[in-house]
Amino acid sequence: CGIVGYAGDNEALPVVASGLKNLEYRGYDSAGVALLDGDIDVFKSSGEIDDLTLPDNHDASVGVGHTRWSTHGKPTDANAHPHTACSGDIAVVHNGIIDNYEALKAALVEDGHEFLSETDTEVVPHLLEERYDDENLIAAVEDVVNQLDGSFALAVTAVGYDGIVVARKDSPLVVGVSPTRNFVASDVTAFLEHTQDVVFLEDGDVAAVTRDSVDVRNGGEQVTRETRTVDWEAD
Ligand code: GLU
Repeated sequence: CGIVGYAGDNEALPVVASGLKNLEYRGYDSAGVALLDGDIDVFKSSGEIDDLTLPDNHDASVGVGHTRWSTHGKPTDANAHPHTACSGDIAVVHNGIIDNYEALKAALVEDGHEFLSETDTEVVPHLLEERYDDENLIAAVEDVVNQLDGSFALAVTAVGYDGIVVARKDSPLVVGVSPTRNFVASDVTAFLEHTQDVVFLEDGDVAAVTRDSVDVRNGGEQVTRETRTVDWEAD
C-alpha cells in the first residue's frame, strides 16, 4: 500500500517513521521498517503504526518502511512487510500483486527456501538471495523483476549495498532528490517535508538510490528521468 525509503547522511529511522505517518491516510492493516547498518534490523507488526515498536534511535542511515493493505495472507505480524530471505541479509517492501508467485514459490521451496509468510511478496527476497552476489544489487533486482508477472512497486535494501534499489510496474513510485540524501516513496507526500525535487519513475524502471546518487535503468539500459519541483504548501 505505502512505501517509503531513505538513504542519507544521518539517521534513517526518524525519516522513515514520519514518512509512514504521512502515508497513513491511504489506509493499511500492518506496518514495518527495515534498517541497514552492517546488518538488517526489521521491526514489523499488524495494526497501527503507533503500535509498532521501534527503537528510540538507530545508527542506520539507510532504511525502508511499508504500510500494508493485505491482498495475499491475513494481516498478521509475519505477513507484514519488510520481508527478508533465509539469510536475513535482504529486505523487501512491495505494493501490488505478484500474479505468478505460486509457481515461483513452489520452485524456491523445492530448492530449499523456507518461507515465513503467506504473502505473494516473499518470493522476491528469496529470488534475490539466489541472484545477489553481495555487491551488484541493481543487477540482481533487474534480473528478478524480469521473472515477475503482475503489478509492483518494490524497494529493496541488502547487506553489502549502501542504498536502496527500487523497481516499478503498474504501481506508482517516486524518488526525492537532494544533495546529501535521497528518498523513495509510493507517493510524494511521504517525503515532501524534506525535498520537493522529485523524479517520477516509469514502468519498467529500476533505480539505484544511494545517499548521493540516483541511477535509473530500463530494459537493461541507463535512462535519464527529469527532476521536477513539486509545488506544495505545508498546512
Ligand atoms: N500483495 C502484498 C501483500 O499482500 C502487498 C499488498 C500492498 O500493496 O500493501 O502483502
